[in-house]
Amino acid sequence: MKIERIEVFQVQWEPEAKPATRSAFVRIHASDGLVGLGEASPMQGGRASLSMIEHEIAPALIGADPLDHAVIQDRLTHRLVKLGPEGALSGALAGIDIALWDLKGKFLGQPIYKLLGGAWQTSVPFYASIGHNSFGERTVDEVCRVVEQRMRDQPTAIKIRFDNDRTMLDRDIPGDIAKATAVRRMVGDDFPLAFDANNGLSFGGAMRVGRALEDLGYWWFEEPLQHYHVRELGALARKLDITVSAGEQSYSTAAVADLIDAGVPMVQPDIIKMGGITGMMRCAALCQAHGVELVPHQTQPTIGHLASLHVAAAQFQRTKPCELDDPSTRRHAIFKNAPKPVDGLFHLPTTPGLGIDLIEAEVARRRV
Ligand code: CA
Repeated sequence: MKIERIEVFQVQWEPEAKPATRSAFVRIHASDGLVGLGEASPMQGGRASLSMIEHEIAPALIGADPLDHAVIQDRLTHRLVKLGPEGALSGALAGIDIALWDLKGKFLGQPIYKLLGGAWQTSVPFYASIGHNSFGERTVDEVCRVVEQRMRDQPTAIKIRFDNDRTMLDRDIPGDIAKATAVRRMVGDDFPLAFDANNGLSFGGAMRVGRALEDLGYWWFEEPLQHYHVRELGALARKLDITVSAGEQSYSTAAVADLIDAGVPMVQPDIIKMGGITGMMRCAALCQAHGVELVPHQTQPTIGHLASLHVAAAQFQRTKPCELDDPSTRRHAIFKNAPKPVDGLFHLPTTPGLGIDLIEAEVARRRV
């Protein structure tokens, strides 16, 4: 099997939305007529990653063997390092890696989780990730209404997320605590809840919120500090009893190792931002060796989500449900078999590769 052609495209979901919601997809055409699908991080529509694939990565891969995905990733990470290995380049290589694993599965006639060593479980629970723009501006009542709505999807847990202005810290700590308290009252004492500060707190602010979350029995406290304050994240994690997590803005296994070294007990790298399936399995080994929880971040509900599910299925001692950010079916429109939860669980497809296929006519309609 040889790579013949690499295609990149954005898909726009709501033409009227500002800013437009776009996904960044990769399609790798190989000999034998096999096609692999991948997804890159959609920040700013993923345009920077898709451009790197088109101009720098695709020309280097024509004629390559898709089964060499790890060699391809390490070679290109180092060859293109000056494009910036943290962000757009790692997202581009993640998209390529996922598409190569999809091809590998199709070539060998196996679902990806089998090629990762087999599944500990083929049905994976999820948590509803609740946030989006200016969640911090919502009233306590508005937050509760959104939580109420998402409970209908039968999640195992709920994470409330505060999309702060990252240039300002500690904007409304009493308001944050009031929302966390109201949600706890609403769902009852036993329902698992998490709180994501989206890097919006100072160390002292995070101590205050963290102690409140401990009293409220929250499960984890995500990204309390700026992501680049790695040492302080570790120090905070050591002081608080609640599990402090970070890592959705880590783009390499070395960056995840730095969080672990600092003392962060739960890391959250994202399959479409760093390393794809190859990178996540390396993180899984790193976390297993250090006794650290790997709970992948993943907010894209189709290709990225499925790639993440295959890893979750194969993950030894997975401790928490997978993330589901967007439960709407609008992004299912271009897929024949988009992943949908049934009774609170995602069931892994048993077809070769990722197990997701495009509807060409719908792709053509929404492609940008
Ligand atoms: Ca987060």
